[in-house]
Amino acid sequence: MEAATACAPAAGTTAAAAVTAPAEAQSGKAAVPCRAFPIPPASALSYEAYAGCACYACAKPLTTGAVLVGRAHGMQGAHDLGTDVYACL
Ligand SMILES: [Zn+2]
Repeated sequence: MEAATACAPAAGTTAAAAVTAPAEAQSGKAAVPCRAFPIPPASALSYEAYAGCACYACAKPLTTGAVLVGRAHGMQGAHDLGTDVYACL
């Protein structure tokens, strides 16, 4: 059920990961969760969000957990660009 199959960590970010923690703890549960944000059209998603590798609302890499929020819709010519989108926990 994890979405992270094709998601390699971005090169160069691993070394800095240990330094970036505390902001999340401060926002706590009072903040609106990312999954409450409206799902943008598929064409507006970043590559990582489109691939299910990052939160569609805050772009945080979904390496530890994610919730399936719904589906972004879009068409490009004959191609359906719709994709499942995930938010961070
Ligand atoms: Zn998020």
